[in-house]
Amino acid sequence: MQYILALDQGTTSSRAILFDAQGRSVKTAQKEFRQIFPQPAWVEHDANDIWNTQREVIERVVGLNDTAVLVNQIAAIAITNQRETTVLWDRRTGEPVANAIVWQDRRTADTCDRMREQGYTQLLQEKTGLVLDAYFSATKLAWLLEHTPGARAQAERGELAFGTIDTWLLWKLTGGRVHATDPSNASRTLLFNLHTLQWDDELLKLFNIPRALLPEVRPSVGHFGESDPSLFGRAIPITAMIGDQQAATFGQACFSAGMAKNTYGTGCFMLLNTGSTPVASANRLLTTVGWQRTINAQQAPEIAYCLEASVFMGGATIQWLRDGLNIIDSASQVEGLAQSVPDVGDTYLVPAFTGLGAPHWDGHARGTLVGMTRGTTKAHIARAALEAIALQVADVFAAMQKDSGITLAELRVDGGACKNNLLMQIQADFLGIPVVRPAITETTALGAAYLAGLASGFWSSTDQIASQWMIDQRFEPSLSESARQAKLARWHQAVERAKGWAQD
Ligand code: ADP
Repeated sequence: MQYILALDQGTTSSRAILFDAQGRSVKTAQKEFRQIFPQPAWVEHDANDIWNTQREVIERVVGLNDTAVLVNQIAAIAITNQRETTVLWDRRTGEPVANAIVWQDRRTADTCDRMREQGYTQLLQEKTGLVLDAYFSATKLAWLLEHTPGARAQAERGELAFGTIDTWLLWKLTGGRVHATDPSNASRTLLFNLHTLQWDDELLKLFNIPRALLPEVRPSVGHFGESDPSLFGRAIPITAMIGDQQAATFGQACFSAGMAKNTYGTGCFMLLNTGSTPVASANRLLTTVGWQRTINAQQAPEIAYCLEASVFMGGATIQWLRDGLNIIDSASQVEGLAQSVPDVGDTYLVPAFTGLGAPHWDGHARGTLVGMTRGTTKAHIARAALEAIALQVADVFAAMQKDSGITLAELRVDGGACKNNLLMQIQADFLGIPVVRPAITETTALGAAYLAGLASGFWSSTDQIASQWMIDQRFEPSLSESARQAKLARWHQAVERAKGWAQD
């Protein structure tokens, strides 16, 4: 038996998962690591914690301390990772020169505000497909170069290396031999040109980033290198690297233009495959590289671009019912409570707790509960919370269809909250198209494994993978088009009431 080893390096934990040739996960290990909050709105990781937990979970799944050592049965390693998080390290020692700045960190928000006032938004959107925001790597890397003693001079001399988490793990796995990334990760930095698929000199100059720091950009699938034999007893080829949301899109077998997935985690992430040309958004959605794949040596690598949108408060709305309101004890109880009433009784929860993202974009919006009467109960609020998740997803979905000109036939779903059947039914109703939940919802790790397995001959084609991709349940829309439109219109009235509330 041969397996693919997928490394899923997330924001709060590192995971390693072994997949067999049927795409089934046969063994998993997971370890959380330290979150470092030095100041309000700052979030850091120690890159060594990331590497050490990742190495430990690999050792656990390949059974290095076990009698049944699996390490000889691993055909390839795939890396998928939290995106945008920025690591800077010394090429000679392999030691980070500072803590990694995590995607959530807002310390460079003022820099972004200033650059926006200077009029760089359009240039950046055209070249990178991104909005000018502290979320992405460029201003984080510039901050590290400014604030780490000696770093800028060392960087100019070529002594330091920059990487997102894929690059950092590849460096550590190969014993410092390979410094590379892939376009799906590079396209989250604000330094990468979506059209040329290269680092962009004008952007490097704008953010004052020395080119000597940057990893080589290679297709997401190919021979990235081999693990150092001293780590796991033998050299294992590393054949795929891809950002987590793009990996999930591949894991959902959204291989062709017009296919989309939505992940219902803490927030929601929707990605739509738009094919081989990038689509610019008029609604401030992101344009990003999905993956780049060499299919055979005679052809140029295949590229898939995606439109991406996120909803800040997805499953987190349910956490708020549990921890803020205490009307449920666990997230899974929300379904029963919401089902105990036939409808929301015209009550709407707008969970704009941290403002509203796409397509409304109002940082001053705040959470709002409208339409309550004496008859409103916690069950109505629970149902309104589920509807709020689905209605926010319906809004980004509409923006995506508008931007791309693509009419979607179905939406594939994954993430912790997709277990909720009522939520999925409501989602199908509000979208007016079927919602499809696959049997395997570990789509992030699976997508990376699929890519690595295609490169190493473990799977022969995307057609073979698509035929393995199994549906658990399909939710058909049951609302009439006029009822659906009326629902969305009422929701938008509620959204208007949430806008512009915060005064600072
Ligand atoms: P993340 O990867 O962002 O940590 P997960 O994919 O693990 O998130 O999903 C966890 C989220 O899903 C939590 O916010 C939780 O409130 C929500 N959740 C879990 N189970 C349910 C459920 N049955 N119904 C609704 N939401 C749920």
